Amino acid sequence: MHDRDKLYIDGSWVPSAGKGTIDVVNAATEEVMGRVPEGTPADVEKAAAAAKAASPTWASTSVDDRVKFVQQLSEALQARTEEIATIITGEVGTPFMISQIAQAGLPALMAGSYVQIAQEFPWEEQIGNSTIVREPIGVVGCITPWNYPLHQVVAKIAPALTAGCTIVLKPSEVAPLTAFVLADIFDDIGLPNGVFNLVSGTGPVVGEALVTNPDVDMVSFTGSTRAGKRVMELASQQVKKVALELGGKSPFIALEDAPADEAVKAGLSSCYLNGGQTCIAWTRMLVPESRKDEFVAAAKAEAESFQPADPMEVTTKLGPMISETQRERVRDYIKKGVDEGATLVTGGAEAPEGLEKGFFVRPTVFADVNNDMTIAREEIFGPVLSIITYKDEDDAVRIANDTVYGLHAGVYGGDKEHAKQVGRRIEAGQVDINGQGFNPLAPFGGYKQSGIGREYGKYGLEEFLQVKSLQSS
Ligand code: NAD
Repeated sequence: MHDRDKLYIDGSWVPSAGKGTIDVVNAATEEVMGRVPEGTPADVEKAAAAAKAASPTWASTSVDDRVKFVQQLSEALQARTEEIATIITGEVGTPFMISQIAQAGLPALMAGSYVQIAQEFPWEEQIGNSTIVREPIGVVGCITPWNYPLHQVVAKIAPALTAGCTIVLKPSEVAPLTAFVLADIFDDIGLPNGVFNLVSGTGPVVGEALVTNPDVDMVSFTGSTRAGKRVMELASQQVKKVALELGGKSPFIALEDAPADEAVKAGLSSCYLNGGQTCIAWTRMLVPESRKDEFVAAAKAEAESFQPADPMEVTTKLGPMISETQRERVRDYIKKGVDEGATLVTGGAEAPEGLEKGFFVRPTVFADVNNDMTIAREEIFGPVLSIITYKDEDDAVRIANDTVYGLHAGVYGGDKEHAKQVGRRIEAGQVDINGQGFNPLAPFGGYKQSGIGREYGKYGLEEFLQVKSLQSS
């Protein structure tokens, strides 16, 4: 049981001003596995004041000295891989083998990347009679979701600390436990008081208090487009900078010359990653009309290899959904797909057999999906693939771009260069060609309603800096 009864503010573990607590539930066993304080606006005020007070000293600490802490963070995360992966597999349901890499390994890698980025970064440059300097934006309020709960935190705080910003973090109330491990690490490595502060709690209470707090200079938010809009609306009252990493409904185009089995394997590994609870999941598979049957058969076979099972088992590829709410949401979408006339190829809304406990959903594939159907337009956040046919390449690109989102996409084809040309036509912040994977140094973020700004690498660092020009002779 992970019982955390204090918040981390100004370098100390302190009780919340309120008495409320939030239960954290294990997604596979449905048992309470932890408890955290339900923070209040008064806690946010205290944390923001601490971050503001720490800001001038931290901003004037040398970059070298700042990144020493980021390096120590990376090493400490690395050393705690197993513990972190186990907690997140419990909270979120991510299969343990994937947790070790994506939930625990990736944050360590991401933090470590800022050591070199900081050394190579153009902190100052000369343009004519102007010296251009980049200065930290100040106090950053970080608000994060539950699906990759530690990665999404570290993708913000590692560059923010490197930039010289101080932080108040509000992690997801559904998967908050590793944010406390992070605070333990900062406490152990002696990060100066007030540079990192943690207030757990709900979005409408702690999240909104953070966004509207006048001591907070910027809000870096990852989560749903719905909540992102609210954050932007509130922040606009103080003309506060916001960085938003929001939802997606990402397309995967299998081109006319794509080998069906390979393409489907790549497509489904993205669509079902973390039980489909992944913002970049390729949930719309666009296949040539003339080869529909071949792709549908390949997708059925591949999807059925993702049998839901205990996420701690090493062979498990598909764990449970994070919560009962999420499971019901996904099942409702599956029912809607059937009601709107899509063909259910495999899976369905019924509970998988033999799994009485845990928030499990059947791996599901729909064919004959029209891009106007709800399952093709809304983010489901579950293991549900929609197969949509296209007439020719222009039609494929048109369907791919016919969405309010623009976070990610995939293109698969026999000719890599041609596939890359198609990738250039897609309105999304990232496009993977022929299953090429994740690059933690490449800019990540959305076009359209998938967000504003970029994370990772030097682009992630720039988000937390503002630019000043000094003119002199
Ligand atoms: P969510 O929007 O419900 O919550 C995200 C965070 O925002 C949580 O900490 C929550 O407490 C807080 N929040 C909620 N309402 C708020 C409000 N009114 N004011 C301030 N904060 C508020 O999202 P979720 O269900 O935790 O996560 C899933 C969503 O996140 C999906 O839409 C997914 O696509 C998106 N996501 C995006 C990225 C990305 O990088 N683009 C990455 C992961 C997840």
